[in-house]
Parts: sequence; C-alpha cells; structure tokens
Amino acid sequence: MQHYFGTIADQKAIIDGKQVHHLIDVRRTVVGEQVEVSDGTESYLCVVDSLEPLSLSVIRKIDTKRELDIDLVLCFALLKGDHNDLIVLKGTELGVASFYPFLSSRCIVKPEKNEDQRISRLRKKAEEGAKQCRRDVVPSVSGYKTFQEALNLRGDVKIIAYEGEAGVGESLLSFAKGLKKRQRVVVLIGPEGGFTEEEAALAREKGFHFVSLGRRILRAETAAMYCASILGAQSEEEEINEPL
Ligand code: SAH
Repeated sequence: MQHYFGTIADQKAIIDGKQVHHLIDVRRTVVGEQVEVSDGTESYLCVVDSLEPLSLSVIRKIDTKRELDIDLVLCFALLKGDHNDLIVLKGTELGVASFYPFLSSRCIVKPEKNEDQRISRLRKKAEEGAKQCRRDVVPSVSGYKTFQEALNLRGDVKIIAYEGEAGVGESLLSFAKGLKKRQRVVVLIGPEGGFTEEEAALAREKGFHFVSLGRRILRAETAAMYCASILGAQSEEEEINEPL
C-alpha cells in the first residue's frame, strides 16, 4: 500500500503538493483506493474520496509497530561521493531513529558550513526511505557535528566501531544481546581512513564501548549497515531485556 506523510485533522488527511502529484500522476491512484498516511507518530488507513481536489478520509488508525524497541542513533563520519546517501537510505529502512554526520581528522570531505545541499539531500533520503518501508516516523538528520560533539551526544549506551580491534574486541552481536528496551544507543562509524589513535583514546575516555564488526575490514557504509542490522535485529527479539 502507498504510504505518505502528512497531517490528520477532522478525520481527513492532508499531504503536501509533491506527494499529491505522486499519488495522482505517478501512482495513478483512483477514487475508492486506500493509502496509508502517517502524521509522524502514528499511521492511518485512508480512502481516496475525490481526486480534484484530492480528499483523503481517515478510516482508522493502523496499529503498526514498525519502530525499533531501542532509540538507535547512528553517527557516521562524512564520506565522499554518494555513500552518505546510502547510509541514510538503508539505515532508515533498518530502523535508525536519528543520523548525525560528523567530521573527524581523516575525513576526505570537509564542508565549510554546518549545513549544505548534502544535508538537505540526506533529509530527502530519510523521507524517501521512511515512505518506502512504511515507517511511522521520518528519522532526523542533523547538520554536521565535530568529532567532539559526536562524542558528547546523549546516550544510555555508546558504541564505537573500531577496526583496530577487528576480530579482537567484543563482537557487536554479543554486545547487542545485553541491550534493554527503550535504551538510546549511540553508534559511531569512522571515515574511509578510520579513526586516529587519539580519537579512539578520546572515545574511550568518554565511556564508549569498543566493538568489532568481525574479522574483515568493512567499508564505512557497510559498517553502518552492519551495525544498524545487528542492533535493530537484536532489539526486535522477543527476549530483549526489559529495563530494570
Ligand atoms: N582504516 C581502515 C578502514 C576504515 S573502515 C583502513 O583503511 O584500513 C571505516 C570504518 O568502518 C571504521 O572507522 C570503523 O568504524 C568501521 N569498521 C570497518 N570494519 C570494521 C571492523 N571489522 N570492526 C570494527 N569497525 C569496523
């Protein structure tokens, strides 16, 4: 079923012009067809009453459970090319709640402003991904953070993927088994050239847990997807621990 984001008021759903165009001209939706509209928190089953102008009536709230049981915060060092888009698009499908691109010493790309076209494109990717996988919320994408700011993000559990310990540090999978529902889990992924030893030392001081993503060195975008998959899958296991 088609999925849109909009506002719900008086048993009607309102979506923006771009989505109206998509619904009418791209998907060629007809009167009587049903679509899903999410207001950013919950999703509603709606029916198309008329096309010109578009009118969508709410049938009922949909009891969805498409968000993870943890609040997954993915911080990734800005990469060159369109790998950042991939991280946000795929991370959204995998349930990431918020993305924080950051700049660290080995980043090849160094934007001058806190926000630029790249960030607006990433936000569009988050929206695109959220519609495609029918999430109730569009994950947020922040402006660029410094490495220090990324280290200072609030989290119940903080993890850094560090290839210096590939195959040696605690595996992410075994670490993930100790997670509890509703915890805010912050994950840090380094740039193409990895983290420097100084950065790793700073992360250790800030209480980050060092995890290995296996015996192979993954490309940063693969590492991001690996982390989102493992943490997301573990959070959806029935036996994930209830908070104390
Ligand atoms: N410095 C490395 C590559 C860095 S990989 C080199 O050129 O040899 C990019 C990022 O992915 C790393 O900073 C780390 O966060 C993550 N990563 C990749 N493979 C990993 C592994 N096996 N264990 C932990 N983290 C890994």
